[in-house]
Amino acid sequence: MEKAVKMKTCVETIERNVCTGCGACENICPVKAVFMNTDREGFWYPDIDRQKCIECGRCADVCPVHQETIAIVSDRYKNIPLIYAAWSLNEEIRYHSTSGGIFSELALAILASGGYISGAVYDKKQRVKHIVTNEKGELERIRQSKYVQSDMENIYKEIGSLLKERITVLFCGSPCQCAGVFQYCKEKHISLDKLFLIDFICRGSNSPKVYRKFLNELEEKHQSEIKKVWFKNKTYGWNRFSTRIDFDNGEQYLQDRYHDAYIRGYIEENLYIRPSCVCCKFKGLHRMADITLADFWGVHLDGHMQDSDGGTSMVMLHTEKGKKLWKAVQDNVYQVKKEIDEVIAGNICFENSVEHGANRDKFMKDLDAIPIIENIERFLKR
Ligand SMILES: Cc1cc2nc3c(=O)[nH]c(=O)nc-3n(C[C@H](O)[C@H](O)[C@H](O)COP(=O)(O)OP(=O)(O)OC[C@H]3O[C@@H](n4cnc5c(N)ncnc54)[C@H](O)[C@@H]3O)c2cc1C
Repeated sequence: MEKAVKMKTCVETIERNVCTGCGACENICPVKAVFMNTDREGFWYPDIDRQKCIECGRCADVCPVHQETIAIVSDRYKNIPLIYAAWSLNEEIRYHSTSGGIFSELALAILASGGYISGAVYDKKQRVKHIVTNEKGELERIRQSKYVQSDMENIYKEIGSLLKERITVLFCGSPCQCAGVFQYCKEKHISLDKLFLIDFICRGSNSPKVYRKFLNELEEKHQSEIKKVWFKNKTYGWNRFSTRIDFDNGEQYLQDRYHDAYIRGYIEENLYIRPSCVCCKFKGLHRMADITLADFWGVHLDGHMQDSDGGTSMVMLHTEKGKKLWKAVQDNVYQVKKEIDEVIAGNICFENSVEHGANRDKFMKDLDAIPIIENIERFLKR
């Protein structure tokens, strides 16, 4: 019986359609037998090198969609969380953030206390990956939502090493990535008391291949390499957010949410989110995070309505640790207490996974055959 358990591996026991591609299995493997490969749609999945595998089963145990992990998540929160509508009082931070800039305020508090922060950045080729840093200058790169799945590379190992040295780490990522970090530490018997987990209400992770094709096409059109990608740019305000892309040759692509093909294919037609996102296990209160952030869509702010188009964050405090961190930034934020019903009313993704779009299969079938913007636009309704 014991032998049968030991022979389990991530690839064999975890159904492919629920695998989130978080990479915790690759990080925990003691013999480097697990490695992430991309499929035809551009999503990461673990593969196992049978020559190296010692069948220890740790890759299955660390998997955040493993049944036992789901049970821990479900059990974690018994209380209704504290909720705020909030934004950073620093206008520069708020403008350059996706919603109200609350992530940056929390990150600054951790850095000031000598801790490290971890989040998603663009590298020189505009690929999106997670980094860990204690440099304040890197916060600018971590700030802002990148609407593509972020590569976690060796992040679990790096965070684990810092925590073992009793250094504070604030990790921000999707709910499934947070569950991966939590589960990695648990499997490695690393104490969680110095770890702050921040997740966000998540619509889903887009295919890195679709994202790359979109950028390639724009580079071709503008005859220049891309210098900077900026999703949810606030040139036309937070509600009418835009995609802004700056090129080396000084040209700029700026399209609002009603005209940018990439964002429309994501939020209107659900053409290229990861298969596991349609059956996400980390919705509602079933998450590992100490704090959940989001755009507070539809927020009522009475006398402050006119201010809200600068971006308003939804801040949900789940744990005592989360509440303590929130207290540390009190002087730097504007905040109004809110109830959970208002969050749910404006943000369907808090509780529900989105469904694959009706045309997803057709879109993916022609992924390599048709130019990407043309492929997206043929399914847009307006
Ligand atoms: C893929 C994705 C889907 C989202 N879906 C929704 C949604 O449906 N509804 C909603 O209200 N909010 C959603 N958000 C969250 C929202 O966009 C803001 O991130 C959140 O409101 C925090 O904003 P902020 O101004 O406090 O901080 P910001 O500065 O915007 O903070 C962004 C933080 O998110 C992390 N991050 C950015 N991109 C990624 C990525 N690709 N993968 C993992 N971590 C990343 C960064 O590391 C940083 O820590 C989503 C975010 C992402 C990345």
